[in-house]
Parts: sequence; C-alpha cells; structure tokens
Amino acid sequence: MMHPNTVMAPINQDKGLGVVATKFIPKGTIVYTIDPFDVKIPLDSPLLKDTRYREIITRYGYITGPEGYIIGWDHSKYVNHSCSPNTISTGWGFEIAIRDIQPGEEIVDEYGLFNIESDLACACGAPGCRGIVSKLDHIALTPVWNVWVKDALSKFFLVDQPMLIYLESDAIDEIKTFVQTQKGYKSVSTNLLPLTLGKATSSSSGISAEM
Ligand SMILES: [Zn+2]
Repeated sequence: MMHPNTVMAPINQDKGLGVVATKFIPKGTIVYTIDPFDVKIPLDSPLLKDTRYREIITRYGYITGPEGYIIGWDHSKYVNHSCSPNTISTGWGFEIAIRDIQPGEEIVDEYGLFNIESDLACACGAPGCRGIVSKLDHIALTPVWNVWVKDALSKFFLVDQPMLIYLESDAIDEIKTFVQTQKGYKSVSTNLLPLTLGKATSSSSGISAEM
C-alpha cells in the first residue's frame, strides 16, 4: 500500500506511468508497505509458466523473501526504478523515504533489491545511472543501501507516519531498539532470495532454472 499522499501519474514517454507525491513527504517516512490485500504469487505458481500472465506478473510484481511475487493492489505497482532512488526497501517489509520528497516529485525505488530475474535496461536519467539494473547489483551496493536506510531510520519517530498503523508491533519495537541503541538492525539483504545472494538452496522454485 502506498503512502496516502501519492498518486499514479504519467511521467514521460520512456517511463509511462509512475507515482508522484501530492504533498511533502519527509525523509524517514514509510512510503509503502506490504499489506494483506496485495496479490501474492509463489515462485512455483503455474501462472509464471503461462506466457499470457508471466509478462504481467514480472512487469508489475516484485519478488521479496519467501513470499514470491507481490503485486500491489493499489498504485504501488507503478513505482519506477531509479539508480538514485528517494525510497528503498528496508529489512522490515516496507519502503522508507531516504531523503525529503517534494510535492510533484516522482517516487522512485531501487529494483536491485527485488530479485529481478533478468537484467533491466535503465534510462532513469539519474547522475551515475548504472545503465543496467542487475540482480547482482546488491553485491557492491548493499553496504551503501544500508547506510541510506540507517540514516533515514534516525528520523523514523520524528516525522508523521500515517502508515505506521500497518506495521506489526514487533517491527516497530525492533526499529525503536535500533534507533535508540544502534543494535538489531535488519539489513536490506533480508529481502534477497538465496538464489539472488548466490547461495545454494534446496527448494525447487520455478525461478531457479532461469536465474
Ligand atoms: Zn538508472
């Protein structure tokens, strides 16, 4: 579910639709979180072998941890990638604003944490654009991403959090502990599958043959 102060909007010819902020969203704000209405498609789902549906799933869905593909029921599925994102996945299943987001600014995210099955050409236009977004980007970038998240979490309890009600109390307690003690941080790599991390796995997911 996307933050209430966001809407779907046409961005440009290359990107098509995206999501923009309708009001100022400060750094540290939860901008998206998984919720019970999202469509969940396990990696061994027959739908992923059906060409009619596979393109839709991979275009609008993202893969996180053990849940398989998640397709947001709302406009969250239109959030585009940027190599200089203003939001990023945390280890707690939500996306956090890593800098202040101005009204009218596009909400952009880091697809390098989404276990993408094949490389994506990127034309995000950000300074330092990687050109290709790859499932291997995390190898070099996870330390950078964790610095961004930790920095944003320092504002977590200082900003308006309309989406805090959708977080489990355990997650809020863990974040509180981290902010107060710098202990118990959950790395962004929590979102990565063993296959993306390059570890052997005994599970036979439908994705394995293609990764
Ligand atoms: Zn880029």
